[in-house]
Amino acid sequence: MSELRFDGQTVVVTGAGGGLGKAYCLFFGSRGANVVVNDLGGSHKGEGTSTRAADVVVEEIRKAGGKAVANYDSVENGEAIIDTAIKNFGRIDILINNAGILRDVSFKNMTDKDWDLINQVHIYGAYKCARAAWPHFRKQKYGRVINTASAAGLFGNFGQANYSAAKLSQVGFTETLAKEGAKYNIIANVIAPIAASRMTATIMPPEILEHFKPEWVVPLVAVLVHSSNTTESGGIFEVGGGSVAKYRWERAKGALLKTDSTLTPQAILAKWNDVQDFSKPSYPNGPADFMALLEDAQKLPANPS
Ligand code: NAD
Repeated sequence: MSELRFDGQTVVVTGAGGGLGKAYCLFFGSRGANVVVNDLGGSHKGEGTSTRAADVVVEEIRKAGGKAVANYDSVENGEAIIDTAIKNFGRIDILINNAGILRDVSFKNMTDKDWDLINQVHIYGAYKCARAAWPHFRKQKYGRVINTASAAGLFGNFGQANYSAAKLSQVGFTETLAKEGAKYNIIANVIAPIAASRMTATIMPPEILEHFKPEWVVPLVAVLVHSSNTTESGGIFEVGGGSVAKYRWERAKGALLKTDSTLTPQAILAKWNDVQDFSKPSYPNGPADFMALLEDAQKLPANPS
């Protein structure tokens, strides 16, 4: 199998001064892409700024013979980041929304600032960058997006109510972009990575982190954003430490109750085993599956279409 190349394409990676973002940039730079290395250069808690983080990565790509430019804007200023791609390379093909910060604190002690900063970077920032890239993607009928979720978003994690909420938002965001983008050959997927970085250094010991090199997340991202991927969109992927796996929603058997005065709390309790019976699950893809289920049970008139 020949190696995946990205010659002539432009990739924007946000939060690319270290960790996963840097690993993406070095890879795409070595595979022929023009790379926009975005990083605000602040602390992992979102304080301060510096141009150094992005500059170091650009320098490394150029030294190895690749093409890269730096951008130092916050992801909240997505237009400026995408403009950097257009001004320097004339196009944007791939957007990797990767920038992130942590404001870990127990929910009891969480402040509005902890909540808002996390939302600004992870939700608003990803939105602003995708929103700025979208018209280009539509016009050229080509675009690839990776958004970044987290196990904390999928499962929750102590001290991360703000981060969990923001990270799970990326799942719904991605699934909608995948649906709206399909007609324009815009493919969007979301990853829940695990990798050694300054972020995970705050929560995992070094002897564990050495098994989670950021470079081991990169190949999946490359597969998903390559032009040869024309079908895998709206997927949720867990990736890290040499493991790659797709996630999906699972629905229990569920209870079907009469929709009349007998639909009481007691009636639901009497069917509780069915409500949570996963022995024969189904795997819905959207509300249409739920409507079909209600039609089959003759709880709704059959859809005439
Ligand atoms: P990291 O701290 O090394 O990288 C994040 C980068 O984002 C930093 O370089 C930082 O300067 C930059 N950044 C922060 N705010 C920014 C802003 N407003 N605008 C532009 N850049 C900004 O951490 P990482 O582990 O490489 O994380 C990358 C992404 O992966 C994050 O979204 C993180 O939440 C997510 N993630 C990482 C892990 C993991 O195990 N490392 C797990 C789950 C999710």
